[in-house]
Amino acid sequence: MKANLPSSDNPRIVIVGGGFGGLRLAMDLSHTNYQVVVIDKNNYHQFQPLFYQVATAGLEPSSIIFPFRRMFQKAKNVHFRLAEVNAISTEKKEIETNLGSITYDYLVIATGAGTNFFGNERLAKLSYPMKSIGEALVLRNSLFLSFEHALASETEAEKEGYLNVVVVGGGPTGVEVAGTIAEMKRFILPRDYPEMDFSSMHITLVEGSPKVLNGMSEKSSLQALEYLKKLGVEVVLNAFVQDYDGKIVTIKGVENIATRNLVWAAGIVGNKIIGLQDEDYVRGGRIKVNRFNQVESNTSVYAIGDVAYMETERYPNGHPQVAQGAIQQGKNIAKNFIAMSKSQKMKKFEYKNLGSMATVGRNKAVVDLPNRHFAGFSAWLVWMVVHLRSILGIKNKFLVFLNWIWNYLTYNLSLRLIIQNPRREEIKEE
Ligand SMILES: Cc1cc2nc3c(=O)[nH]c(=O)nc-3n(C[C@H](O)[C@H](O)[C@H](O)COP(=O)(O)OP(=O)(O)OC[C@H]3O[C@@H](n4cnc5c(N)ncnc54)[C@H](O)[C@@H]3O)c2cc1C
Repeated sequence: MKANLPSSDNPRIVIVGGGFGGLRLAMDLSHTNYQVVVIDKNNYHQFQPLFYQVATAGLEPSSIIFPFRRMFQKAKNVHFRLAEVNAISTEKKEIETNLGSITYDYLVIATGAGTNFFGNERLAKLSYPMKSIGEALVLRNSLFLSFEHALASETEAEKEGYLNVVVVGGGPTGVEVAGTIAEMKRFILPRDYPEMDFSSMHITLVEGSPKVLNGMSEKSSLQALEYLKKLGVEVVLNAFVQDYDGKIVTIKGVENIATRNLVWAAGIVGNKIIGLQDEDYVRGGRIKVNRFNQVESNTSVYAIGDVAYMETERYPNGHPQVAQGAIQQGKNIAKNFIAMSKSQKMKKFEYKNLGSMATVGRNKAVVDLPNRHFAGFSAWLVWMVVHLRSILGIKNKFLVFLNWIWNYLTYNLSLRLIIQNPRREEIKEE
């Protein structure tokens, strides 16, 4: 079966994934002489850097996601299809989706990365990852449901298990989630649950390497550690989670921790689609590409963003898997497609490091610019401006800004809702 698409005499570029990379590429190819087909399994673009605020009830999900059809309204040569891509046939120049097959002249794989549980199925089933808005909402439900269960617990040990939160992975996501939950414990939960004593609630951040924010400067890493400790987060470094049964997390060389809330932010792996050759993949499930983002075994296929692996002189082990990397690659290959249509030369990709940052609770952040590090309130203001600027849509920017101001002034956003499935039979307690 063939998926329904308008016929066109122009070459067709199929983009799989409308994340930071795929979306930038599609927007830059609008109004060109290509037929552009964007395929995504969701009908919206997600702003992943703020997932942690949705998970901790600081933001509405709808303020950090944006529907593709709204974005492509004026781009007549761009067609969106809500579908999941299952396989590629490079021989037939065709992809297989649940809507049927779609042929391409050029294919761009921009599927990003998913959570890496390192083969542990129990962790995959029982912990809470945060790689989609849906997962952020599931975490929010679990946290607030746990607090309700804690109130009904018959023993102190059972109560502690419901209250404790263990976050695995000391990268920006882990640091941001742990910091925000620690603030919630201090400022919000005692007001919501005046009958409960939160002194037995522990927030633990477990990191396998000797420092948090491993990809940032030494100064940022030390500063973030200090901020976390001040907020009351217990940071365990050089430690690896071995297993989790839904109630107890086992950590190598460290005492077990009782928790119903294990947040998994410890690793990512490229979202794979069947059909490329084994040699096209390198570690982390990433697709090896040349300096034009083309897959070497088949140059009509491109990969960009988190799923792509490109070695350059400055980045011999591949680029960092961050939004800027995906956006810059999307921009560069859009320019190259336009150059190709004019029989001009393509340009090699060169990553421009614009800096990195992470926030640790209100008022505090760390920022690394290419030649400068700073931290504290000024870093937090910069963090806010950069994120606000990056969110799509004026309404979304306004909503996020308004929420932040309200939250800052009152410590009290009313998004702590537990949205349950009305058709579930019972809460499954093991
Ligand atoms: C919680 C979190 C916080 C982060 N914070 C930061 C930050 O502060 N700063 C920063 O720079 N980076 C941050 N990142 C990383 C950043 O979000 C990624 O580097 C970036 O999203 C990569 O862009 P991409 O286009 O490669 O993929 P993505 O943005 O992940 O997009 C991939 C798209 O592909 C779609 N897709 C996947 N598989 C299929 C399929 N088979 N069929 C159809 N569609 C498919 C998905 O639905 C998705 O829309 C964060 C990531 C997470 C998860």
